[in-house]
Parts: sequence; C-alpha cells; structure tokens
Amino acid sequence: MTDSIYDLTLRDLTQKIETWGEPAYRARQVWEWLYQHKVTGFAAMRNLPQTLRTRLEEAFHIGGLVPVTELHSTDGQTIKRLWRLPDDQLIESVLMEYDGVRRTACISTQAGCAMGCVFCATGQMGFARHLSAGEIVEQALIFARQLEADGDRLSNVVLMGMGEPLHNYDATLEAIARLNDPAGLNIGQRHITLSTVGLVPAIRRFADEQLQVGLAISLHAATDEARSKLLPVNKRWPLADLLDAIRYYIDQTGRRVTFEWALIAGENDTLQQAHQLGTLLRGVKCHVNLIPLNPTQGYGGQPPDPAQVEAFRATLHDYRIGSTVRVRRGIDIQAGCGQLKADVLQR
Ligand code: SAH
Ligand code: SF4
Repeated sequence: MTDSIYDLTLRDLTQKIETWGEPAYRARQVWEWLYQHKVTGFAAMRNLPQTLRTRLEEAFHIGGLVPVTELHSTDGQTIKRLWRLPDDQLIESVLMEYDGVRRTACISTQAGCAMGCVFCATGQMGFARHLSAGEIVEQALIFARQLEADGDRLSNVVLMGMGEPLHNYDATLEAIARLNDPAGLNIGQRHITLSTVGLVPAIRRFADEQLQVGLAISLHAATDEARSKLLPVNKRWPLADLLDAIRYYIDQTGRRVTFEWALIAGENDTLQQAHQLGTLLRGVKCHVNLIPLNPTQGYGGQPPDPAQVEAFRATLHDYRIGSTVRVRRGIDIQAGCGQLKADVLQR
C-alpha cells in the first residue's frame, strides 16, 4: 500500500517533489490543497501539472482513517466516530457543538493508553501504539471538511480523546503545528487544548515551546495517597512535582490552566477533598472542570448525585476557585474516552 500523504511534513513533501525535478513551490501548493481546501483526491489539485498529479497518485493516498461506526447523540449536538487504522487499530474522535457557535473536535493521540488510570475505558485497554502526526491531524481535518461543506467551520480542537498526548510528544507537537498553520486548518493556538495526566518532564518541555495552547491537567485527587490509587502515574510524579511543573507552564505562557476532576461517589467527592483541593490550588491561576464520572465496564465507581456535585463546587467557590460542572457530552452515545471502542469490541 502507498503511504498516507498526511504523514509527511511540508519539508518531507518538498524534498520528495524536488527529487521528481519539480520546483519547491509545488509542495506549498499541494499542502494548501490538502490542509486548506481539504481535497480528497489528487485530481482536484487543479493548478498542478498532470505529471505531478500522477506521480503523487502513484506514491501516496490521502488519508488512512476508515469509518467503522458513527453515533449521533439524541440532542443532535455530538457526533462520535470510531475509525479503523491501516493496521486494524481502532480509535475514536468526537465532534461537539457548543452554544451554537463553537465546533470542537476531540481527537485521539494514541491507540489505547499506557497510563492505566483505573476509571478510564482507554486505560483499561492498555497501550497499542502511538498515532502518527498525520493520523492525529486527519481526525480533525475530516470534521473540518464536513463542516465546511455545510458553510460552517471547525473552531476548536481538544487533545482529549484516547491516549496520553505528552507520551506521544513529537507527533502531538507536529500535529498542533499543522492544526495551527495559517496555510492549513488555521485553528488558533488559544483554541487548541491539550489534556495530560501529568507527565512532569514533558509539561516543562511543553512550556518551553512557548505556545499559547491551553493546558488541562487530569487531577482527580488532591492528596498523593488518593491520586495514586486512581492514577498510577502519580507514583512516578507526585503532586508537589506536578504543581511545580504547572506553575512553570503558567509562568512561561501566561495562561490559566484547567484542572479536570472526575467526581466519583464516595471516592473523591467529599467536602474534605474539596477543601484539600482548595488548599492545593491556592495561588494557582486556574479553573476546575468537574465531570461526574462516566461509569465504565472495568471500574465499579459511580457518579455522585447532583446535590453533592453542587456542594463540592460551592466549597471550591469559598476558596475563590472557579469551577464548571461538565456533564459529559453524548453520554447516550458512549462519548466518554474509549467507551465506544470498548462497546464495539464487546458486541
Ligand atoms: N490522557 C489525557 C487525555 C485523555 S482523557 C488525560 O488523561 O488527561 C480526557 C479526560 O477524560 C481526562 O481528564 C480523563 O481523566 C477523563 N476521563 C477518562 N475516563 C473518564 C470517565 N470514565 N469519566 C469521566 N472522565 C473520564
Ligand atoms: Fe490514559 Fe488519560 Fe485514560 Fe489516563 S485518563 S488512561 S492518561 S487516556
């Protein structure tokens, strides 16, 4: 099989085209057809000589994701896709519509995940492989193409699907650059958010990139004992180190960070924990997203009742920490991380 052209950087593409005796500016043209116009075939690249189009066709194909299932939430605001990759791995991506304006793609960075968070469907599957930059970008690109056909536009991307983006650092950074590229998808850095379980050295490295990308941290507990039970990675990089790295990110970028907290009844939803969280985050420029747990096959936990969620939120408010309760979009379509794949594999 030929290679997916999305797996080439602009530099790779330029080199390739030069070996064919074509001028470098042709690569730029191809790039714009791919990422700006989002064409699905080389024949559509009208300003290229026929010989070049034929060569491209012989060497590459456009895109490697094959749709397996697609689910639409009953409110019509969320679409979830399961994709098959050329090596038969399955990954998910989600398109969400917020407030009638924002169109947000939630995309995966790995097939499976090595981090083993106990409540997460992807963590329960284990790690299969990293996605290439092309495979990461393509998930967003397909949604963008579809929206543009309807006169709409993809406005936001969150790297919050399957996998740990900072574990797949280089491909993730390359994907962010391509999503952000004004000659490509042209999504502003401030409209891109990366969510991490807390890989401390990678957070510092990411801070040094000096991007304006939003950072979300999956916190879920405010003491090392409680956090290590839910997120094994905490044993390697405990809270004090994590908070230091986060402060560094804030210093380097000037951006407020988001903390994610999946509320689990009787586990991390007590007011004692809310107080501990309030204390931990004192002086940190942040916002907290409270996500009532989406129950998964491999974990017995349940979401708290709404009154407890509200009490938790009110306690954080006493510490002057802003929080939002995020009912997970498309619960009715298994839109939690990794849940559609888990569901399809069981059928
Ligand atoms: N690996 C990254 C990004 C993908 S997970 C990370 O962990 O941050 C995206 C978010 O969904 C994380 O905050 C994760 O903790 C949360 N999540 C995973 N499974 C969940 C579940 N069953 N219910 C609620 N949130 C969940
Ligand atoms: Fe991996 Fe994130 Fe799931 Fe943890 S929550 S297992 S880091 S995808």
